[in-house]
Amino acid sequence: MKRLLLIGAGHAHAQVLKDWARAPLPGVQLSIVSPHALAPYSGMVPGWLAGHYSFNEICIRFDALAAAAGARLVLDELVGLDAERQQVQLRSGAALDYDWLSLNVGSTLTPPAVAGARVLSLRPLGALRLAWHETLAELAANASDQPLTVTAIGGGAAGVEALLAVCHRLRALQPTRAMHGGLVTRSTELLPGLAPGAVRQLQRALARSGLSVQLGTEFDDAVARSSDLLLWATGAQAHGWQAGSGLAVSAAGFIRIDAGLRSVSHPQVFAVGDCAEWANPLPKAGVYAVRMGPVLARNLRAALGAGSATDYEPQHRFLALLATADRRAVASWGRWSLEGAWVWRWKDHIDRSFLRRFDIEAAAASQSLEDPA
Ligand SMILES: Cc1cc2nc3c(=O)[nH]c(=O)nc-3n(C[C@H](O)[C@H](O)[C@H](O)COP(=O)(O)OP(=O)(O)OC[C@H]3O[C@@H](n4cnc5c(N)ncnc54)[C@H](O)[C@@H]3O)c2cc1C
Repeated sequence: MKRLLLIGAGHAHAQVLKDWARAPLPGVQLSIVSPHALAPYSGMVPGWLAGHYSFNEICIRFDALAAAAGARLVLDELVGLDAERQQVQLRSGAALDYDWLSLNVGSTLTPPAVAGARVLSLRPLGALRLAWHETLAELAANASDQPLTVTAIGGGAAGVEALLAVCHRLRALQPTRAMHGGLVTRSTELLPGLAPGAVRQLQRALARSGLSVQLGTEFDDAVARSSDLLLWATGAQAHGWQAGSGLAVSAAGFIRIDAGLRSVSHPQVFAVGDCAEWANPLPKAGVYAVRMGPVLARNLRAALGAGSATDYEPQHRFLALLATADRRAVASWGRWSLEGAWVWRWKDHIDRSFLRRFDIEAAAASQSLEDPA
């Protein structure tokens, strides 16, 4: 019996499980390790922060997917990997050996602790649920008429969308409380990589919501002291254990992979999405993890002796749809941009359709989980 071990409930592994449910490979024991049975879909996270969706609505159910695939779901977290011994260590103290390993564990952030302010880290997404609910509960418990200041650190899509969404939600919850919001980024450019028109539309959305933008500004004590809530949305970082795993990693600690999505140093290890890095690094965006899914599923089968492997070809550009929290959205494609309520409805349709692809097995279990959102 060959052991195929998937680590992380990322966007690509959802597709591997779905593929396996359609056609399991005999003689292969499939296991997946994830700290949570529900994995949020990144594209809908801002809509959930804004209060437009419940948490369950934005999640892929890995318990149901694993059951449909005949895979063992281990609710645990990898804390160490020994690529030479082909073994992973889990937080519970257990160790798992593998013949083939696939990593889809996303990225993380290391925000500072700030006295007097709550810090909400936008990555990893799995930990955001609890942190956001604790933030909402704390604000509800300490109802005050003092002004509230929310600051996003980071001028990419996550910082802009999260700031708009969080301020929208907090204003709805405490309509009489004065709220100040702003975004601080060390970059001299807001939303690098988006069409110029889309950047202007998002700047207008921030201004409509009374939110300021400070470009070329470092996060420092002064920013920290003036904030009650910090949204930490700086660039994606690699998980610390990756550098000590024995796998070849980039200078920033991301796992170096080839065009077949395999580790360049350990061919029995695959890595995809945010945790991986090509020779030409791709942006850390969910669209890449999603597009890698079918290639990963095929190449894992090929590694196990079924069919032939193929190369992943990244798209040169992708459609970015950014929510502005007022049930409007901005679309950016190359140099083109569009904005409006209909763009939000279009985005909502695309996102819900994506999730529905993984929902066929979920109906039976969906009643049993609590939904605190
Ligand atoms: C607010 C926000 C909005 C975003 N919006 C978009 C968007 O609209 N479009 C877009 O393309 N990108 C978006 N992104 C970026 C996107 O979130 C990431 O690029 C994407 O989630 C990466 O997908 P992934 O499959 O690599 O990892 P993830 O989706 O992060 O999944 C990784 C999984 O691995 C699990 N995991 C992590 N560590 C371990 C471990 N040690 N052991 C076991 N399991 C582990 C996690 O719990 C998680 O389930 C957004 C990001 C943020 C923060």
